[in-house]
Amino acid sequence: MIKVYNTLTRSKEEFEPLEPSHVRMYVCGPTVYDYPHIGNARSFVVFDMIRRYLEYSGYRVTYITNFTDVDDKMITRANEAGITVQELAARFIAEYYRIAKELNIKPATVNPRATEHIDDIIEMVELIIKNGRGYVVDGDVYFDVSEHPNYGILSRISPDDLSAGARVDVDERKTDPRDFALWKAEKPGEPSWESPWGRGRPGWHAECSVMGAYYLGLPFDIHGGGQDLIFPHHENEIAQSSAAYNIETPVKYWLHNGFLTIESDKMSKSEGNFFTAREVLDHFDHQAVRLFLISGHYRQPLDYNTQALEQATQSVERIRNAADTLRGRISILEKRGSGKTEADDKLSEAIDAVRAGFEREMNDDFNSPGALAEIFAFIRAINTHTKDAEKTAVLRKALATLSELLGVLGIDVSKSSESGESADESVRFEGVIELLLEIRESARKNKDWATSDRIRDRLKELGVIVADTKDGPTWKLE
Ligand code: AMP
Ligand code: ZN
Repeated sequence: MIKVYNTLTRSKEEFEPLEPSHVRMYVCGPTVYDYPHIGNARSFVVFDMIRRYLEYSGYRVTYITNFTDVDDKMITRANEAGITVQELAARFIAEYYRIAKELNIKPATVNPRATEHIDDIIEMVELIIKNGRGYVVDGDVYFDVSEHPNYGILSRISPDDLSAGARVDVDERKTDPRDFALWKAEKPGEPSWESPWGRGRPGWHAECSVMGAYYLGLPFDIHGGGQDLIFPHHENEIAQSSAAYNIETPVKYWLHNGFLTIESDKMSKSEGNFFTAREVLDHFDHQAVRLFLISGHYRQPLDYNTQALEQATQSVERIRNAADTLRGRISILEKRGSGKTEADDKLSEAIDAVRAGFEREMNDDFNSPGALAEIFAFIRAINTHTKDAEKTAVLRKALATLSELLGVLGIDVSKSSESGESADESVRFEGVIELLLEIRESARKNKDWATSDRIRDRLKELGVIVADTKDGPTWKLE
């Protein structure tokens, strides 16, 4: 039985989807105005891992994640760049798909865009007004919070605190300072659509209520996003969906990922303390980046630093080496036939133990660090027993289990390295370097300094640093 921490009830609950064996899930996606930072990528990866584990557990998952392709930030950025909001969106939607692929994020069932659902948004706003929960002022439409009985149900912020906060930025046209925009009247230079209240564009919260209801129906099972979205975005989504469609609980489980931090501060564009996902993926092995992003529990903060990424890189190496060890032993046994030893029994026990441990941890609110600890215990067992194992069936099962469980976490270790370079290729590369160094050594013996220096300098240009020691030359990659 899977247990999930539900922000709505602030407790771990047994997970039971509304329809047996089908999970309907919506995750707030990126605002496509810029390159996503690695903190945004954490959110994408964490919910992809949750989706994969639900699928592993036998559920069919309908997974919807949107692109916010019209909002204030989009408009400002497009104007600065002298392009249309649509062009800006197209550029960063393409970038999202590239990043998603590099991070092994499974394609969503649908990636809807706000601008594809303007008519549906207008329809929802009309329903809210009709139900007496929204009002129009000068072409803007606001949600009337004072008419909503359980506003604050998700964020647990008391009405007084909310009013105090909202009063800082008083808008006399609003009935209550907490009221928020469902529809914004057109301003010069902004994209706009026809509506019953004049030309304008949707408020941010409206799109997610509408697209969730459109693709999943209400109520649905899981709504995800980063913790920064609990208030106001998700609070307002609940209010809108309840008011428009007369449903008290539009979503059963609310899941929120913790922040990726830098020196304990939330990584964010506005603070300027961020690395783009692009930069990080260009510097580090993609599997290591994914592993790093799930190396902490998804609800806890996770600190970004080079050391953590290097550690993840080493962990991925350990995983690959264990897989290679199994493959190597299988190929030896295939050539010479096999018996059965105690090592086979030990390996079989480890296979059963890792699956049980993995499921225990993941069933506990998707505890990926716990699941990874189980996998590394399994890798230790592989490293200890493989050399003495004799049964290819057991070794194959160990390899299949390792890659299956890592696959549930979205880590693919079928290749020996990120560039797709095989182990054979790196052996060949090392052989060529060794050969060049031998030639250089004989040139040095013949006092042919020109050849010797030329080899060293050319290698340096190619990023191979040669050092001469008393035991002969050594080399390393820059
Ligand atoms: P945005 O593009 O700003 O709408 O954000 C996309 C997703 O990333 C949302 O679910 C945010 O809550 C999430 N997010 C933003 N900053 C961080 C962070 N530092 N750590 C983790 N998730 C974040
Ligand atoms: Zn949203």
